[in-house]
Formats: sequence, C-alpha cells, structure tokens
Amino acid sequence: MLLNQSNIISQFIKAPLTELKNLELSVLRLDKVHPVVSGNKIFKLHYFLEEALEKNFNTILTFGGAYSNHLAATAFAAKELGLRSIGIVRGEEPFRLSHTLVSCMNNGMQLQFISRNEYTKKENPEWINELKNQFGECLVIPEGGYHQAGAKGASLIMDLVDEKATHILSAAGTFTTIAGLLLKSSPDQKLHAIPVLKGLKDWKERLHFLTGFDTIPPNFKYHNDFHWGGYARYSDALLEFMNEFYERTNVPSDFVYTAKMFYACFELIRRDHFPPGSRIVCIHTGGLQGNQSLPPGKLTFDY
Ligand SMILES: *Cc1c(COP(=O)(O)O)cnc(C)c1O
Repeated sequence: MLLNQSNIISQFIKAPLTELKNLELSVLRLDKVHPVVSGNKIFKLHYFLEEALEKNFNTILTFGGAYSNHLAATAFAAKELGLRSIGIVRGEEPFRLSHTLVSCMNNGMQLQFISRNEYTKKENPEWINELKNQFGECLVIPEGGYHQAGAKGASLIMDLVDEKATHILSAAGTFTTIAGLLLKSSPDQKLHAIPVLKGLKDWKERLHFLTGFDTIPPNFKYHNDFHWGGYARYSDALLEFMNEFYERTNVPSDFVYTAKMFYACFELIRRDHFPPGSRIVCIHTGGLQGNQSLPPGKLTFDY
C-alpha cells in the first residue's frame, strides 16, 4: 500500500446476542487509517495512485458531491503523495462549503463546481477530454473509484480479513468495495452486501463490470432492506442504535454507511441468518466525518 495502514486493527465484539447464538463477531477497523479520511476509499484509490506515480502524472482529477468521502480521501491521498488534485463537484457553489469540501480544500484540492445537469456527463470521454484541456494532463479517477482498478484496490482489504471468516459484511454504495472483497474471497466465505441506496436495480451489472464475472457467485448475498429509506436517510432509532453500539463496543459508526451495516448484522443474527459457529467479520469502512452533517448533540461519541 502507498498509504499507511498500520493502524488498522481487528476488534473482537462480545455481545449477549452473539453468545446466545454461538457466533464469533469481529470488526475490521478500516476507520483507523486516518481520523478524517478513512476506510475503504484509500484502498479503492491504491491502483489509481500507483498509475499516477508510475506514469509521472502530477495531477489527479475526480468527481463527487458536496459530502463525498471519496473526494475527501482523494484530496488527502494526493497531498500525501505530493500530487495536485482537482475535484469536480456536483452542483453550484454553495454560500457555505460543507465540512467535507473544507477538508478537501485544506488538503490542497482545487474545486470546480458544475451544474447537476453537466455533472451527468462525468463518464463521457469527450467531456473528460475537455476537462483535461482545461486542467492539463491528469489521471482521471471515476466517481467513487467505480472501476475495475478501484475494485482491485478494494480487494487488498481481504488481506487483512481473518482467513477463518465465514461471513463478511460490508456497506455498499457503488458496489466497488464489495466487488473487490468478492474478487479475493474463497467460495466458502459468504459476502453480505448492505446497500445504502434504495431500490438499486443494476447491482448485477455493476458486479459484472467491476469483477468481470459472468454470473454472480453463489457466495454473494444482497440484502436490500436495510437502507432506512435511502441514501443518507435516517431516523432517531438509527442514531440510538449508533449510540448504544458505541457504548457497548467503543466502535463509532457513521449514519450513512456503517451504522446501517452494523444494524443489519445484528438483525440478521436475530433472524438466525448465520449458522452456529459462524465467524462474522464486519468491515468498518470508515466515513465518520459524514456525521458532521447531523444536528449537533445527537451522538454521544466524538467523530
Ligand atoms: C463510500 C463508502 C462506502 C461504499 O463503498 P462503495 O465502494 O461505493 O460501495 C461504504 N462505507 C463508507 C464509509 C463509505 O465512505
């Protein structure tokens, strides 16, 4: 890895429910990579960054919304490696920048705001060429690292997962991370994707694009009932769960991704989804900075 991952730990979770059901549960704390820029994003960027360095690009350019963990991670990684970074941000420039965009700027990212309409061209090669003309030769990283290279980078996460794990859970947005985990999982390890978007219809096409697999391997499971109404939607019950989970385990979570995954994990345990003796690993993909968009005082832990 180009970026330091020595802080990542695997944390064993003891809970009455896991004891009752005779299960082992642990959390792979990718959130420990960095206090602000955390988790899976750094892994997804790995091969893009490697290519930028090998081909002597001095600039990387990518895309995201005002709360994008991917933009924040790209800005941080670029700074660490001495690269210039450009962020193409969806929507007009707001009167007040989000905390995410402030973090991007603090890491030296140059931001360009574009209309939502124009942003839909983000995968159009002609428009990308126009951007290259505007900003000079640069390595372009798709939004969210959604690309085979992003999945390959995410597959490196599997090197940190206990080989004896029988079930691996991860929150899924673009599906790049879970595709990476799938690339390196063994057939007897079940992979559980917890999508945080409502009604994502094209997940099979996504997995096909990201992994090159023609059919979805039987060890892949998709759980579409834990999105809490859709992307970044939440209720007080989810925040209460986050506070309680932190109190019991000292594991902070974010309301957009990881809280929904941890909640799903306990709910699936309750529904006897995992046979006794299972060794479950939850991937803590980070994203804690996202909690800063919650009203103050809702969470009992620091993030
Ligand atoms: C981006 C993100 C995800 C989703 O990753 P994908 O590769 O887009 O599926 C999950 N968790 C956190 C904390 C994230 O920031």
